[in-house]
Amino acid sequence: MSTLASELKVYKPADYKAEIHNDWCPGCGDFGILTAVQMALAKLQVPPHRTAVVSGIGCAGKAPHYMHTYAFHTLHGRVMPSVTALKLANHDLTVIGVGGDGDAYGIGAGHFVNGGRRNLDITYCVFNNDVYALTKGQASPTIAKGQKTKSMPEEAIMDAINPILLGLACGYTFVARGYALDAKYLAELIVQGIQHRGSALIDIYQTCPTYNDLHTKSYYSEAVNGQPRLYRLEDTDYDPVVHNPNDPAEIAQKKAQALLKSQETGGRLALGVHYKLDVPTYEDYLKAKIPGLREKPLAELDIYHRDIMPNLRELM
Ligand code: SF4
Ligand code: MG
Repeated sequence: MSTLASELKVYKPADYKAEIHNDWCPGCGDFGILTAVQMALAKLQVPPHRTAVVSGIGCAGKAPHYMHTYAFHTLHGRVMPSVTALKLANHDLTVIGVGGDGDAYGIGAGHFVNGGRRNLDITYCVFNNDVYALTKGQASPTIAKGQKTKSMPEEAIMDAINPILLGLACGYTFVARGYALDAKYLAELIVQGIQHRGSALIDIYQTCPTYNDLHTKSYYSEAVNGQPRLYRLEDTDYDPVVHNPNDPAEIAQKKAQALLKSQETGGRLALGVHYKLDVPTYEDYLKAKIPGLREKPLAELDIYHRDIMPNLRELM
């Protein structure tokens, strides 16, 4: 396809779908997340050749294989380093990280922390099913103390990580939660995450019918004290946006609000955007330091014949 033809094409979700056999278990929540990512890219009309999807190890790690975009299936827990390298090499790409809860918050925890505070313009979708599903369902960092799935020989003996709290603490500037079996709404959140200029974390409740018999479709669908377990923050008076990014007091207040919301008791679970702060990205910082990057991405610069090395050295 010529460049002109590709620019004129109207992309549909199917245009982001690879023609390859999918071997996720029937009924897996991963299907909903994959569909939501494809819907979001179509909604934004991001050309497949301008998109890169990166995964770590786990069932979720297979997601890029099923995408008709650039893709990279990296080492366990190394989504963030690969996402970072891709974005620094070509800041014009739409870069999406995908991976499981064990990959993001366990094996890759150090990278997750420092990737967030760098505030690169990326979107990280975490498929959170409470288990290391690819290796037969061992407890992951998001399963609560005392809980036991059918795949675990004993109850979990440690407290769970709270992904929303962790994301806030690490400096992600867009923190949201979705649900895999509501692909339409999840796609809306992914659209917002991609549109956000900065590091976007979307933690996604993902059902794993093979190993997790606690957090099932029925669990997420059931009522709690007569109200749906899952609800949307935008249906309440919750406002996640920091309206004055130069006001440290407002930033603190919005973080405190999200901190409380993420620890809501009573069994109800909030979906939607918990926190959003618009501040300069890491790429903005680099463009200020390296004038050549304001014209084109590093991957397209003729670094051998342009004098950008002094600027690069300054950053090292
Ligand atoms: Fe999905 Fe669980 Fe099967 Fe993995 S083991 S494909 S997470 S249902
Ligand atoms: Mg998992």
